Amino acid sequence: MNKVEIKILGGGREVGRSAVALGYNGKYLLLDHGVNFTENDIPQFPQHIRPSLIEGIILSHAHLDHVGAAPLIYSSTKVPTVTTMLSKPLIRVMIEDFLRISGYYIPYEYQELNVLMDNIMELDLNESIELNDFQISLFNAGHIPGSAMTLIKLDNLKILYTGDVNTAETKLVKPADYESVDADIIITEATYGNSQHPLRTLVERELIDSILESVEDEGNVLIPVFSLGRAQELLCVLYSYLSGLDVYYDGMVRYISEIISSYPEYINMYGLLIKSLREFNMVRNSSERRKLVREKGVVIIASAGMLKGGPAQYYAKQLASNPKNGIFLVSYQAKGTPGRKLLESGVLEDNSPLVKAKVRWFDFSSHADSEGLLKILKNARSVKHVIVMHTEESTGREFVRRIRNYDDSLNIYYPANGESITIDV
Ligand SMILES: [Zn+2]
Ligand SMILES: [Zn+2]
Repeated sequence: MNKVEIKILGGGREVGRSAVALGYNGKYLLLDHGVNFTENDIPQFPQHIRPSLIEGIILSHAHLDHVGAAPLIYSSTKVPTVTTMLSKPLIRVMIEDFLRISGYYIPYEYQELNVLMDNIMELDLNESIELNDFQISLFNAGHIPGSAMTLIKLDNLKILYTGDVNTAETKLVKPADYESVDADIIITEATYGNSQHPLRTLVERELIDSILESVEDEGNVLIPVFSLGRAQELLCVLYSYLSGLDVYYDGMVRYISEIISSYPEYINMYGLLIKSLREFNMVRNSSERRKLVREKGVVIIASAGMLKGGPAQYYAKQLASNPKNGIFLVSYQAKGTPGRKLLESGVLEDNSPLVKAKVRWFDFSSHADSEGLLKILKNARSVKHVIVMHTEESTGREFVRRIRNYDDSLNIYYPANGESITIDV
């Protein structure tokens, strides 16, 4: 009897640093190879795997917590990396930015990034390829443009790796194509495995009302965003409700939006994205930035999403002291980030004055909630084993409980980093 081994190298009981080694007949397929950051911004890498044992790599999408460690593998080997056409250029931009900011702590160089890029095999959504024993197909994951769930066939066994997944429709991406997928083993993310998101249209309405409240009072609004995904979603949302307003976008958002807009097939409401980029204003340099904060009634979308650096940090400081202004957060705020500090203590930094601008948080998540994640399991008629990862410790435990409530005949695993699960085929 054959055995399949699933080894969690990163993303076990933590959000980020996703890396799973899928072993069969002594060879491994690597599902993502990402990084995490400590509170002091030091990157953390997945556990080691010998590159000579790796047959190929799948990169589910271009966020750093899924791809930041991928070039490491290319210090000593040249295996193929499979990803979507859009993820390829995005992976380059994201890792270049990572090298620029955190280069001192990264155990690889541009050279390894270049080898990774040279070894990428692009795979369209709904298409398949074979890497020796592993037959691989990609399906839309609904998380960000270019994101994919991976279905791996090994003889008669089907394994689904969700990567980051969203089953709800957003303006930027269509919902995950989970209905096309059946699997015996599901390796699922569970970032929001303990919660339910409010209806997206309600969240949009609340944000729009808050923006109008500030702008009509001659205040300015800052919306800090992740440059890949959330930024473009917010551009679409703002354009669909407020196309007449003075909206500006700044930071990495500019380059990333340019790349994404060349791949219409990965975008849900493509026309909306293109119009927002064309008709809203791009901030080009620091003198435009300084001028902008002296205006009245403008909305600024800028990276970084948790106010860790980027132009958003500059704007936040400039807007903080005026109660007519708004700082509206639209992303997950990790512990120890200035965004989390702002929400919890009302200050941007320790010992800085209390922020007088309105501070609010809106749930624009691009991850499925527990109901969405369960839908993926319920749809898979053959599923017998579920492996839960990419989640904070207590959230994951709650999701495991919810899976058990749904079907207690399933084998559920909640491995920590370094743990291996072996399943007979
Ligand atoms: Zn992730
Ligand atoms: Zn992601």
